[in-house]
Amino acid sequence: MLQANGTKAPGLEKTRVNVAAILKVKGRRVVTTVSDTSLLDITKQLRIHRIGCIVITCPGGKVIGIVSERDIVREIARAGSKVLKKSVEAYMTKAVVTCRESDTIDRLMAEMTAHRFRHMPVVEQGRLIGLVSIGDVVKMHIAEAEMEVAALRTYITTS
Ligand code: AMP
Repeated sequence: MLQANGTKAPGLEKTRVNVAAILKVKGRRVVTTVSDTSLLDITKQLRIHRIGCIVITCPGGKVIGIVSERDIVREIARAGSKVLKKSVEAYMTKAVVTCRESDTIDRLMAEMTAHRFRHMPVVEQGRLIGLVSIGDVVKMHIAEAEMEVAALRTYITTS
């Protein structure tokens, strides 16, 4: 926010919350598996870790796919529970949209809305270093809005 004299009001500079800030709070652990894992094993991993998606990597650690609970539910509805014996390779999404630590949460919200997904792996120099979900983004967005309200209150009451 600019003051009447054109300078920035102290404490009200627009903060740029990015992916690095989210990873600092939630950590960098990502649940991954390899492409010959069965869909049944994937569902067990989702349950154990209480998560909604798993990133598929090749033995070198490169991201080669992502599978979410939606993919599995859709396939069970289409082909029946026998599909749970099949490996994830045929059912994962291979065109994975990833983000970087420097990306802002505004960019993530735009990507997630445009592509209609809720998860984005964080990749730096070809290496998977974290995963951000829509829940993480919304939480950070609310925290950012609350900080702005607090700064505005301080500005109004002290100027
Ligand atoms: P989600 O909303 O994240 O549960 O995923 C919805 C659909 O998008 C599923 O088919 C996922 O495999 C796919 N998907 C999830 N995250 C990504 C991503 N970052 N890039 C590409 N596809 C994704």
